[in-house]
Amino acid sequence: MSDPNPDSWDDMMAAVQAFHDKHDFRNTGGEELTYRVALMAEELGEISSCVTKGKSKDSLPEEVADLLILLMGTDIAAGFDLKQAFWNKMDKLMARESRMVNGRIRVSEFRDMD
Ligand SMILES: [Mg+2]
Repeated sequence: MSDPNPDSWDDMMAAVQAFHDKHDFRNTGGEELTYRVALMAEELGEISSCVTKGKSKDSLPEEVADLLILLMGTDIAAGFDLKQAFWNKMDKLMARESRMVNGRIRVSEFRDMD
């Protein structure tokens, strides 16, 4: 493979696919969704410890990258198009209202709160 373009989503996805292929995740349980949810929860916990206690804040970018790589790999494992899902959701989010809820901004459809 030629040098990846760091600004290209497709090149980022190809790098994650190469990681899956290197360890044959498809045939070794690495693409099972229940297992992936557990791994994502673990990485979210590591992000939490960077923000609250335990890990240094210097580790935050690496831990967020861990979660992003898992999310991108879940596109591969579950066979959807994460880039398209991102843009579909951004359109929805940008059309939503915001409210202050308990002192913090919340962007939602607020179906139950009226
Ligand atoms: Mg981590």
